[in-house]
Amino acid sequence: MATHDRDPDGVRRVRAPNPSPMTLDGTNTYVVAGWVVDPGPAEEGHIEAVEAAAGGAIEGVVLTHSHPDHSEAAAPLAERAGGVPIVLPDGGAQVGPFRAIATPGHSPDHVCLLLGRLCFAGDTVMGQGSVFIPPGEGSLASYLDSLRVLLELDLEVLCPGHGPYVRDPRAKLREYLEHRLERERLLLDALEGGARSEGELIRRAWSDAPAALYAATSLTLRAHLEKLALEGRLPDDLETGLL
Ligand SMILES: [Zn+2]
Repeated sequence: MATHDRDPDGVRRVRAPNPSPMTLDGTNTYVVAGWVVDPGPAEEGHIEAVEAAAGGAIEGVVLTHSHPDHSEAAAPLAERAGGVPIVLPDGGAQVGPFRAIATPGHSPDHVCLLLGRLCFAGDTVMGQGSVFIPPGEGSLASYLDSLRVLLELDLEVLCPGHGPYVRDPRAKLREYLEHRLERERLLLDALEGGARSEGELIRRAWSDAPAALYAATSLTLRAHLEKLALEGRLPDDLETGLL
């Protein structure tokens, strides 16, 4: 492990064996202050590694959001720990040592968990690359607001749901905001240039997206279009089915 990716004091990261383009090298489960953050997939070897990292004493399990790659092991782990609580908190709630901050976007139920100047960021921030924001319920607009909320905080380290620790939270959050707004500019340029179909909009505004992630890119396009539609910034002759 590179020295800059060392665990912050008091934190143990256990990486689950579920690598994929969407989960990078696997889901990060964190053991901190006797609690398990995002227990990950229900895979026996992973659950055992989390138990070992906790030294057999788990007070509770807390989730950043309900997606299965973060939450599936919650029930078996909590049961094996003697029936400890499993909490997916609302924004503003205090859970064990953590304060939850609502950060909808990647999912409507998403929260980040603050412990001092550490932020367990779930899928609001990835250690590498960008986060997948599916369309629906104004997700992209919410996501940008969530990034702005995190930017207001004095954070030392982001502990993301996937990938390495982020040691300069403010720079990363600014980069994320800028990346989305740049994508929006490219999309608006493509629309202004007459692109109206999914294929043409992706070709012009996502020319750098890997072909293997086409399905995710197509959904990301829809999330952007949804935001622009809510803002009244879309032409009315888009290819049908895009909104
Ligand atoms: Zn997720």
